[in-house]
Amino acid sequence: MKKHEPISIETIKAMMNLTDEDLKKPLPKPTKWSQPFWDAAKEHRLVLRKCSKCGFIDHPPYLYCTNCHSDEHQWIEASGKGTLFAYAINYFGVPFPFWADLPYVLGMVDLPEGPRMISNIVECDFDKLANGMELEVVFDDVSEEITLPKWRPVKK
Ligand SMILES: [Zn+2]
Repeated sequence: MKKHEPISIETIKAMMNLTDEDLKKPLPKPTKWSQPFWDAAKEHRLVLRKCSKCGFIDHPPYLYCTNCHSDEHQWIEASGKGTLFAYAINYFGVPFPFWADLPYVLGMVDLPEGPRMISNIVECDFDKLANGMELEVVFDDVSEEITLPKWRPVKK
């Protein structure tokens, strides 16, 4: 597949007559039940909300267990490993703030703990992407408050 030349933020702004405000990326807004997930991510740890009654893990974290409705839970440390369930390479048609990142990969990642997580697949040659490939979590500090867990191929 043809590699695209990266386009600079300044070029996008001039081309589309945009302001800095238009190019701000939306960030997750932690809720009181997801705050521990984001606090851990900031420390570069991946945690999951596990129900103390039935053991079900909800991700994204929710305010009660979606399996048994209990609100008793604990936060567990995830292994940080996953396998790629499916992916898409974005070349166009994304909101302006993401233009400078094109092309980039979105993936659905199956965690051995149970949940399926959606995030970016990074540090990966597009030709090497394959469903079922082994991944490991990496952390992207995108702002002072928010760190995003992303995934890259396990280096063999
Ligand atoms: Zn439960």
